[in-house]
Amino acid sequence: MMIPTTICYIKNAKDQYLLLHRIKKKEDINAGKWIGVGGKIEENETPDQCVRREVFEETGLRPKNFYCHGVIKFISDRYDDEDMYLYSAWDTEDNVKECNEGELKWVDKDEVLEYPTWEGDLYFLKPLLEGRKRIDMIVEYKGDKLIRCEDITEDVVTLKSSLIDCPHGFSTRTGGVSDGIFHSLNLGMNRGDDKLRVIENWNRFLDSAGVNSREFVCGEQVHENNVHIATKDDLRPAYGPGEMNVCDGYVTNLKAVPLAIFIADCVPVLLYDRENKVIGAVHCGWRSTVADIQKNAVDKMVTLGSKEKNIAAAIGPAIGKCCFEVGPEVIEAVEKLLGGDATSFYTKRGEKYLLDLRGVVKQRFIELGLKEENIELVGECTMCHPDRYWSHRYTKGERGSMAAVIALQD
Ligand SMILES: [Zn+2]
Repeated sequence: MMIPTTICYIKNAKDQYLLLHRIKKKEDINAGKWIGVGGKIEENETPDQCVRREVFEETGLRPKNFYCHGVIKFISDRYDDEDMYLYSAWDTEDNVKECNEGELKWVDKDEVLEYPTWEGDLYFLKPLLEGRKRIDMIVEYKGDKLIRCEDITEDVVTLKSSLIDCPHGFSTRTGGVSDGIFHSLNLGMNRGDDKLRVIENWNRFLDSAGVNSREFVCGEQVHENNVHIATKDDLRPAYGPGEMNVCDGYVTNLKAVPLAIFIADCVPVLLYDRENKVIGAVHCGWRSTVADIQKNAVDKMVTLGSKEKNIAAAIGPAIGKCCFEVGPEVIEAVEKLLGGDATSFYTKRGEKYLLDLRGVVKQRFIELGLKEENIELVGECTMCHPDRYWSHRYTKGERGSMAAVIALQD
């Protein structure tokens, strides 16, 4: 059993932090300690929602700004394990109300570390007070004794295209908070990972892509060729609420409608018309590719005002020709798509073939009227680098998911 919680260190204009002396609650595992404000994340609540609720309930404050620094993972032989989402908050009043869990006190920044607290808390409090943004740690106790404290902070690695100057990116495995087979940046919402960790991973990915929204358009991908013109009605946060689309591609010309697709070997494509401000995100597995999803995507961009010669395509990390073994039926379908001009994209190996699907996708875009110099390959073969990317084939399906996202903003 793992309990998700939040903790928040609120700062006022005098550079003081609000500590709660836990002396009122019965059977409080934090009894006598001086800690930040926070509590258990309730069912159907996100960490962001929880921290705002807890701060208001315990202090009466509604700070304007909250920032999630990361997740402190507590392991204990005595209590349930805990994922503690570590926040700071600022831009607030300093008149606090009476708190039923203890006494609230504003403490000067240089004195915060002198107040009695859990031994392990000092390890994340110190960088927090020093202004470090990202803090992810594993803290392990035997009884009340700290036996391990590991700083596991990693920067998020998001790949970008030089052809796209609006917020966008292709995610990698690096910089998230998931564990085990999902280590560390899993964006897949239906793969068995912990929901709140996936939400935190999404927040990090959207931030690193430059997308200033927590809502985006995504859906269930079915390896077909349907492309949907997305509007604000399609927006939802990770895990909803709101209906999921059933679709493999999206285009839009609207601002603040980020488009996202999931991948783990299939070819992700981000489309961008800089002249007319139209964007697209397309999931090109081999089935969608031979069903010509690319034509549907380009056609829909044209209905929104694009000209083919202005459309840039960034083709992201996917399984390469080195690793993508397919049967003759796939080769036949590719030859049909490219009108017999497909021989340079595959090699025969025994009874099977090795297929360069990213090359096929690029060739198809050129046939559809995109300029070769407006097409860029970003990233590497996912299966050759399973430490950097999620690869469905390498992991035999025991995996997380990457995503690609693009958005028009003001
Ligand atoms: Zn490979």
